[in-house]
Amino acid sequence: MRLNEWKSEPVLEEVPVPEPGPGEVLVQVGAAGACHSDLHLMHEFEPGTLPWNPPFTLGHENAGWVHTLGEGVTGLEIGQAVAVVGAWGCGTCDHCLDGLETYCERPDLAPVAGGGGGLGLDGGMADYMLVPAARHLVPIPDGLGVVDAAPLTDAALTPYHAVRRSLGKLGPGTTAVVIGVGGLGHLGLQVVKAVSAARVIAVDGRESARDQAAELGADLVLDPGPDTVERIREATGGRGADVVIDFVGSDETLATSAACVRQLGDVTIVGIAGGTLPVSFFGLPYEASVQTTYWGNRRELVEVLDLASRGLLHATTTIYPLEDAVSAYQDLAHGEVTGRAVIVPNDTFTR
Ligand code: NAD
Ligand code: ZN
Ligand code: ZN
Repeated sequence: MRLNEWKSEPVLEEVPVPEPGPGEVLVQVGAAGACHSDLHLMHEFEPGTLPWNPPFTLGHENAGWVHTLGEGVTGLEIGQAVAVVGAWGCGTCDHCLDGLETYCERPDLAPVAGGGGGLGLDGGMADYMLVPAARHLVPIPDGLGVVDAAPLTDAALTPYHAVRRSLGKLGPGTTAVVIGVGGLGHLGLQVVKAVSAARVIAVDGRESARDQAAELGADLVLDPGPDTVERIREATGGRGADVVIDFVGSDETLATSAACVRQLGDVTIVGIAGGTLPVSFFGLPYEASVQTTYWGNRRELVEVLDLASRGLLHATTTIYPLEDAVSAYQDLAHGEVTGRAVIVPNDTFTR
């Protein structure tokens, strides 16, 4: 499933099976999640927006089985089920040493600057995927299948990284607001519940997403509208939300986030809908912090998989065979996917 140029629809094409060089690992893909970021890639980004360009195979949310080891690779077994850590940095700069390969500072030494498989390099919407180093693979714990694991590598890992960053503000008596209960948001909500004592308010314009949020234990579910901020303030004794995670990132949702956050709270922008939030002295409650976050790291993925293997986190998935990947993106674009759309090559069904 290839994106061949900016502002184009992806196409299914035959490509050769890659051969792993020294240090590399060939993974037989079990499943690849379809992320809304891919829709931004296909429809919105201009050349120069990102440090890399098409063509490449889509799919940056992947799990499968170790298929072939390149020369010198140790510590992995053929056939072992693995989840792929998607961001591939240089491995040696300060941020990479801290496990933050998303924020690698030597992109010139990385396989791709600021990206990974499915983001500049060939990803997992294929039968096989080449992974440039064994450190990007995390064993999937027993009891968790590859189809359930794949969405966790982005749709759960990204919110997990964001929540973990704000964990100190999510003690008993606090409130987290999750805006956008789609692929990321439905897992973000579960992450807050699993790792903190905060109450959760979920906001989504789709009825099916709101129903899902309620089923997943959101304490209050809101349809976005002119009274959203007032209702969040009411529900928090007038104080506002300690942490707001915006999984949309439009002008509208950023304005809501800024207006409903508590003094000393966090607004974390995860969604890349292209909105702008003006920051000024009186524009936000005192000492509110605003940050973006990008994806997560290997250690956090291990933790996410652990939560999932213990039943504390579960991705709702809709499965599409690789041949139907185009319709998965169409459904995602039309707001018709509940949870995550996951693309599955034929061999997964027969394995
Ligand atoms: P998705 O399409 O599965 O979910 C988006 C949800 O937001 C949907 O349920 C939709 O109904 C809801 N929504 C849209 N507009 C809304 C509004 N104004 N108010 C309330 N809800 C609204 O998308 P996804 O795959 O979960 O991705 C969400 C966003 O996060 C995308 O912009 C994606 O590109 C971005 N993303 C960022 C990172 C990162 O590392 N920062 C990683 C992955 C995805
Ligand atoms: Zn993504
Ligand atoms: Zn680096």
